[in-house]
Amino acid sequence: MEKVIIVGSGCAGLTAAIYAARANLNPLVLEGREPGGQLSTTTLVENFPGFPEGIDGPQLILNMHKQAENFGTRFSYAEVTDFEPRNNHIRVKADDEWIETRALIVASGASARWLQLENEEKLVGHGLTSCATCDGAFYKNVPVCVIGGGDSAAEESLFLTRFASKVYLIHRRDKLRASKIMADRVLANKKIEPIWNTVVTKYIPDEKGEMRAVRLRNVQTNEERELPVACVFVAIGHDPNTKAYQGKLETDPDGYLIARHMAESKHPGVFIAGDVADRVYKQAVTAAGSGCAAAMEAEKYLSALSA
Ligand code: NAP
Repeated sequence: MEKVIIVGSGCAGLTAAIYAARANLNPLVLEGREPGGQLSTTTLVENFPGFPEGIDGPQLILNMHKQAENFGTRFSYAEVTDFEPRNNHIRVKADDEWIETRALIVASGASARWLQLENEEKLVGHGLTSCATCDGAFYKNVPVCVIGGGDSAAEESLFLTRFASKVYLIHRRDKLRASKIMADRVLANKKIEPIWNTVVTKYIPDEKGEMRAVRLRNVQTNEERELPVACVFVAIGHDPNTKAYQGKLETDPDGYLIARHMAESKHPGVFIAGDVADRVYKQAVTAAGSGCAAAMEAEKYLSALSA
């Protein structure tokens, strides 16, 4: 029987691990299929306090991982696919094995959303991606496009100007949702060409199955055209990773877990942290804060159990 299992190794999960490990709870982190969470696929993080020059997202995550490990956190890449709350313990199915724990912190984050177009799955890795940091450098001196109008799309577009000959930013409205500082940088960059009021309706691969172009539709005029691009970077937001908890923990209509008092679920011993329950702020620092709260609540709960 574990004392505390933490599901997810993004900013929220790793902060929870640092706190739980320092409280001698010997936490086990189940990292799942996207270890490091969203920060590990981002570029420079300029708004995490304590780093006046900014810090690369993957480095920030590595630092947190090391910090959690230094205090005795254990890690496994197992993915949680099922969950059963019992009277005074919880069972989670990690890959094919059920593990029992007294407390559980769900910090499984959110995963990139896709457009749900034809051939999408086949084209991932062949000119279709949701991660500019991972794949941007493969597209030197060729035109690429980014889809979306939020901070992710802004950040990815700016990053891609280091490599691509041209970055088309395709957005379904005529105004960016991104923060003003990011939007201003995008609009001031000569290499980025925004294409407003436009959606991608089709990916067009070449005869080798690599992305060659996209079909665009202007949502105001319904005009259609083809835009040659070597890679499409999809940055249209994220969906919470809550499949294992559906029907067992409270969720909102979009699947986000509902946390009470910052970190509590409706089930005693199950705590919640980070983007899996945050449809508003979704920042590294708020995820870290809720990871801290979840670990402190778990510690309080475990102390009461053993009293
Ligand atoms: P987001 O803010 O939800 O933006 C998603 C964008 O994609 C929106 O512009 C949306 O259009 C568009 N979109 C959604 N579904 C679409 C679809 N099916 N087809 C076409 N377009 C679609 O997501 P995000 O950019 O990933 O950011 C998430 C959070 O992380 C935000 O709170 C953001 O501030 C934060 N973040 C911060 C930083 C930073 O501070 N450097 C970097 C990255 C992310 P509409 O505008 O029309 O809704």
